[in-house]
This record gives sequence, structure tokens and C-alpha cells, in this order.
Amino acid sequence: MTTADTLPATFEGEVLVPGSSAYDAARTVWNGAVDRRPAYVVRCAGSDDVRAAVRVARELGLPLGVRGGGHSAAGWAVPEGGLMIDLSRMHGAAVDPAARTAQVQGGALLGSLDAAAQAHGLATTAGIVSHTGIGGLALGGGVGWLARQVGLTCDNALGYEVVTAEGELVRATADEHPELFWALRGGGGNFGVVTRFDLRLHDTGTQALTAEVDLDAGRGLDALRTWLTRAHEAPRRATLYAEVRAGGPLTLGLVWVGAPDDAAPLVAGLDGLGTPLARRVTALPYLDLQRRSDVGAAHGYRRYAKSHYVRELPDAALEAFLAHTEADVGAASLVAYGGAIADVEPGATAFAHRDARFEYGVGARWEDPADDERHAATCRRLAATIEPWSVGVYVNALGAEGAAGVHRAYGAATYGRLAQVKSAWDPENVFRLNQNIPPA
Ligand SMILES: Cc1cc2nc3c(=O)[nH]c(=O)nc-3n(C[C@H](O)[C@H](O)[C@H](O)COP(=O)(O)OP(=O)(O)OC[C@H]3O[C@@H](n4cnc5c(N)ncnc54)[C@H](O)[C@@H]3O)c2cc1C
Repeated sequence: MTTADTLPATFEGEVLVPGSSAYDAARTVWNGAVDRRPAYVVRCAGSDDVRAAVRVARELGLPLGVRGGGHSAAGWAVPEGGLMIDLSRMHGAAVDPAARTAQVQGGALLGSLDAAAQAHGLATTAGIVSHTGIGGLALGGGVGWLARQVGLTCDNALGYEVVTAEGELVRATADEHPELFWALRGGGGNFGVVTRFDLRLHDTGTQALTAEVDLDAGRGLDALRTWLTRAHEAPRRATLYAEVRAGGPLTLGLVWVGAPDDAAPLVAGLDGLGTPLARRVTALPYLDLQRRSDVGAAHGYRRYAKSHYVRELPDAALEAFLAHTEADVGAASLVAYGGAIADVEPGATAFAHRDARFEYGVGARWEDPADDERHAATCRRLAATIEPWSVGVYVNALGAEGAAGVHRAYGAATYGRLAQVKSAWDPENVFRLNQNIPPA
């Protein structure tokens, strides 16, 4: 039996198998270290195709992977020897400017959503690299430069259209299947294939500003402490951050979404932190802001990253962060949370870390497979120096760290409730190639 035999005559997409001309491109994901070979890539044209593909995977007993934008660093989308549902043809984003809503297909990339919304001066929180998939990002929460202003992507979800493990199409909203609606706002791809996200948009305007200073990392402690202390009192249009990289300076900066002139007091505060080695202040369209990291985050490199949520950053933690500059590889950041993220009750969605004050992340990229272990080990070592202050981890920043990592991403209460929802909607754990929550 082959997949092509078992798909219904109504199937409108395409099936790629090893040897098909588009097969290798379809199994290639963002992290160049991921090299898996699905038996079938089922490139779906719509929800009915997805329903058929889920049923076929179950009939054939194949591991099922779901590819949104292909950006999970662990490469969850690509099942070795299994069936990959490839949503890349389902990439549309349609905006209703009067209702301030967007309907976004499950395989859309963030750039499509941003472009469609900005045509009307609107936006909602999306990530900071435009070639990331809305699918994985929104299902894990969704953090970006608008999050302090309007909440996470999942906080702006009005409804989901979902293909379940039974191959049925259901809607999940506050009124229809509310427990599933709760779980989809942070619980990842555990509950089905989301073929459409309905999102609330906001009148953000089209302007933004970035401001950064580079300082001598060796003498950066006071400036770092001062800057991060301001992160939570800052207007919600601002996201303050700090960055360090191997052999580099300490960079302190902010991203502002709104009229650039309104950011002047914050920028002046940045200038008062010390004598900068370099200073960059740039007013730019919001769409350019959303693409400015696209090249640095290009596909194809081998990657490794580790992350922690932190609430307190005493001097010992800041010193550990500054000491990252002495490593031979890696770049790290501390990015402020708070604002609208923290307005939401902890139990209101499956995103569990409303009280995180900063997200810490360290990562490296390289090309030679011979460096895999060494560079990953360096990132782990650096992240371990911040771990004493860790209060959890963002599920979308988690690598393949097994059950302990998933527990860290959710905490006991949210994890337990997610496991109940999983039992109700996917008792056989069909959707398990993700940060998996087995049925209770
Ligand atoms: C360069 C880069 C920048 C990033 N920036 C941000 C950021 O600014 N903010 C942020 O919050 N995160 C960010 N992330 C993390 C990102 O949210 C996760 O990697 C996320 O998993 C990517 O989703 P994807 O659809 O592209 O990935 P995929 O690998 O395709 O999918 C990831 C997981 O989600 C599941 N999935 C995807 N789509 C669907 C769907 N439609 N229905 C059901 N399950 C689905 C997959 O099965 C898989 O388990 C970034 C990642 C990268 C690599």
C-alpha cells in the first residue's frame, strides 16, 4: 500500500517521496543540522487534504510530523521514515481592516501576516524573523516586539480551525471547545493541525525605531544593571534588551514600535550609560524592523541554542552574562517581558510564564559538522551559568530536552491540565513530534 493509493480522489495537494524532484527541499528545515528522511511528504492544499493526510498516517501506522515554517531548532516537523504534513502551500493571510482581524493559514510565514496587516496600518504580535512559521510560533505563545504592547500572539487569538487526531475539522474559540482553545494558546502542536488562525489586530501604525549602544563588556556591569532596571517601567511600546557575543562588546538597546520621536527620552537614557564604542539609532518602517534579523537568522547553518526565563538578575547573574564574551563562540541576549504579557492571568492560557521578567537565550551557528558537539557544549556551559536564576523556559526556545524540559516549560498545574486536554483530543498521541505532552 502507498500513500497515493490511500488518499481520496478529492486530494488536491501533492505527495513527494524520496527521488521526487522537490523532496530534498521539502525535508530541509531551518536548522542545517537536521537531516531526516520522511517516507512521504504530503503537501496539502487545504483543510480537507490535511484531514486525509492525518487519516492516512494513522492507517499506515506512520509517525506523523507537521511542518509549519520549519523553524523548530530540533526539527520536529520532519519524521524519519514517517509522513510529513507540509503546510507550505497553505500560506495565505487575509485581513479585515474594519473588524481588525486576520485569518492566517496554518503554513503561513510571519512576513505574510505582517505585510497583509501593515497595508492597513495594523499589526499583531509576531516574531522577530519574518521567515518563521506562524504555526509553531503562535501555538507555543508567540513573542515579539509588540508583546509588551498587545500581548503574545496567542493572547490575540480569537479562534482556531483544527484538524484533530480523528481527522475531523473543528473550531476552537472561547465558546466552542473552550478547553481546546485554552490548550492551543501555548500548548504547541499537541492537539491537532491548525489550518487557520483567527487573530486580533491593533492600530499600531507603521513606524518603529531601534537604538543601541556598544559598551566595553569588561566594565559594563553598572550600565547593564541600570538599563535592565528600566526595562519594566519603560512605556509598553518599548522592549529593552542587552546582548553579548563571544569576543564582542556589551550591547544595550531598545526596540520601539510607534512614532520615533516619542522614544526620545528612552534613547537619551541609553546615551547616559557610559562612553559608547558605537551608537546606532534608526527610525524605520515596522515591516523593515520585522525583517532586519532575517539574514542573520538565515537558513542552512547548523544551530544550537539554550534559554531560560528569569525573574531576578542580581549582580552575580549579570556578571555571568558579561562573562559570555570570554567564550570562543555564542551570542546571548536578555529581552524584557512584562507589560501586556503580564496582564493576562497565569491560568487563562496554556502559556505558563506570565511573571517572567526577562528571557535569556544563548545560541551559536556554524557550518562544519565536526564542530557540532563542541559548540553545543559551549552553549550549554554558558546557559548553565544563568541557570541558578532560571524559573522556566519558553517552550518554543526549548530544544530536544525530553520530558524534563517540557515540564520546565509549563510547570505542574498547566502541564496537568494540558495532559487532560490531550487525553480528550489525542488519546493515542498521534501528534507526538513536538514538545510532547503525553495523554494523562
Ligand atoms: C530564526 C528564528 C527566529 C525566531 N524568533 C522567534 C520570535 O521572535 N518569537 C517567538 O515566539 N519564537 C521565535 N522563534 C521560535 C519559533 O517560535 C519556534 O521555532 C517555532 O516552533 C517555529 O514554528 P514553525 O512553524 O516555523 O516551525 P516547525 O518546525 O514547522 O513547527 C514547530 C512545531 O510546531 C508544530 N506546528 C507547526 N505548525 C503547525 C500547525 N499549523 N498546526 C499544528 N502544529 C504545527 C510542528 O509540528 C512542530 O512540532 C524563532 C525561531 C527561529 C528559528
